[in-house]
Amino acid sequence: DLRRVSRALLSVSDKAGLVPFAKALHERGIDLVSTGGTKKALADAGLPVRDVADLTGFPEMMDGRVKTLHPGVHGGLLAIRGNAEHVGAMEAHGIAPIDLLVVNLYPFEATVAAGKPYDDCIENIDIGGPAMIRAAAKNHGDVAVVVDVADYERILGELAANDGATSLSLRKALAQKAYARTAAYDAAISSWFADAIGEVAPPVRALGGTLAEAMRYGENPHQAGAFYRTAESRPGVATARQLQGKQLSYNNVNDTDAAYECVAEFDPSRTAAVAIIKHANPCGVAEGSSLLEAYERALVCDPVSAFGGIVALNRRLDAAAARKIVEIFTEVIIAPEADEEAIAIVAAKKNLRLLLAGSLPDPKAPGLTFRTVAGGFLTQGRDNAVVDAMDLKVVTKRAPSERELSDMRFAFRVAKHVKSNAIVYAKDGATVGIGAGQMSRVDSSRIAAWKAAEAAKTAGLPETLAKGAVVASDAFFPFADGLLAAAEAGATAVIQPGGSMRDDEVIKAADEAGLAMVFTGHRHFRH
Ligand code: 5GP
Repeated sequence: DLRRVSRALLSVSDKAGLVPFAKALHERGIDLVSTGGTKKALADAGLPVRDVADLTGFPEMMDGRVKTLHPGVHGGLLAIRGNAEHVGAMEAHGIAPIDLLVVNLYPFEATVAAGKPYDDCIENIDIGGPAMIRAAAKNHGDVAVVVDVADYERILGELAANDGATSLSLRKALAQKAYARTAAYDAAISSWFADAIGEVAPPVRALGGTLAEAMRYGENPHQAGAFYRTAESRPGVATARQLQGKQLSYNNVNDTDAAYECVAEFDPSRTAAVAIIKHANPCGVAEGSSLLEAYERALVCDPVSAFGGIVALNRRLDAAAARKIVEIFTEVIIAPEADEEAIAIVAAKKNLRLLLAGSLPDPKAPGLTFRTVAGGFLTQGRDNAVVDAMDLKVVTKRAPSERELSDMRFAFRVAKHVKSNAIVYAKDGATVGIGAGQMSRVDSSRIAAWKAAEAAKTAGLPETLAKGAVVASDAFFPFADGLLAAAEAGATAVIQPGGSMRDDEVIKAADEAGLAMVFTGHRHFRH
């Protein structure tokens, strides 16, 4: 997998670090080729360097718009060295192989940042640079590509370690970085353009996505909205087939995603499960022996909020469940598949959207999430931690019963999908009270307990549903108060990450209240 470097093409706008780097390459006996400005910098430093015109047989022209766009360069970058036909073509056309490409691009971003006029920005769109970078990165089997001055040291280190050669693993890492650079470069050009022309239509591609549809509006009618699909093949709202119903709104898509991701936590080979979602928060999640039973149990948790909700199911939608779901106003149903009879039942509700995603997404799969901030955006790996893989630690004198433990797992699984601060009461594989999105944990605890009492009233039951339930918290209880609120409401066991400075105090309070408590060691913040 080692590839010896005999020839390097250097073409850089940012000349920082160039001379010492090129000097070290030259001392290794590497033949240097460069474009105009780069060649001058190297020649001025006394280094032997050939002009790229030697490879192309053409002078640079059109203000540098055309310098390296020629088979003499691209053939040398793209030819597979082990392919007889490619090698034959190089020989037939006098093309010299290039083993190392060092390019940094025209400073488009800096030109825009400096507030330069339109024509200057246009002239600073690099054409040949990205073309070479993409060619060399594609041919990483033979060619190393450097797009960042910060990588010069690493290259020299590698050449020293491998007697003048590069390793495949380094070439792959460099190729990955190269495409990230050209993607970011084009994204910068496209968003500058959007500003310059007073963008009206959503861009066809943004953040690595392709426009799926322009929406009537965003979260509110005065906001523009659009829906993009990425290359990620994760089953869900973006890849699902919509069988019927109105066009999905921005909020529908967001809520349906939350619903399907939540219900996907429940392995369909183990149990049927249903999640009812409003405003991206669950207002009822339950397991059952059938989807009908799971839906009915999920509905008990908060039937008032479930009105106008999104219903996600982890198994093929059947007629019994469909018949029950359409009894109340529901915005969207999403399931992996549906029976013909169920489809016919849903069809009676013209506006109700039915989405079939084919299968369930894997909750353990890696992935990325994005959020914009003023002047930038944040990205992170998706929360793919699952409670079944966590090492649960009993911290109280009383150990939880088997039933409590199974409800704890259930509640923690749901808490992952509730906005922080999240408090989830659960009993027998169903949520009975959910406190979401409060700024203090004790408020979420109180709301969850209150909801459990309300749900009992609505169901005509004499006792709060929190009685004998377990409670899950998405993050540690910073004080004993939230935990005590749960005990007062009737909860018998608690699952939480642990890790507070006052864990001892909280454990002591749990012991005094006769609660069983386990620590998961994993937090599920969702802000
Ligand atoms: P130099 O300072 O060596 O004259 O130019 C280096 C810059 O030219 C680099 O940023 C490189 O990406 C860019 N470049 C190389 N080939 C071409 C080309 O064919 N067209 C354009 N527009 N830029 C190129």
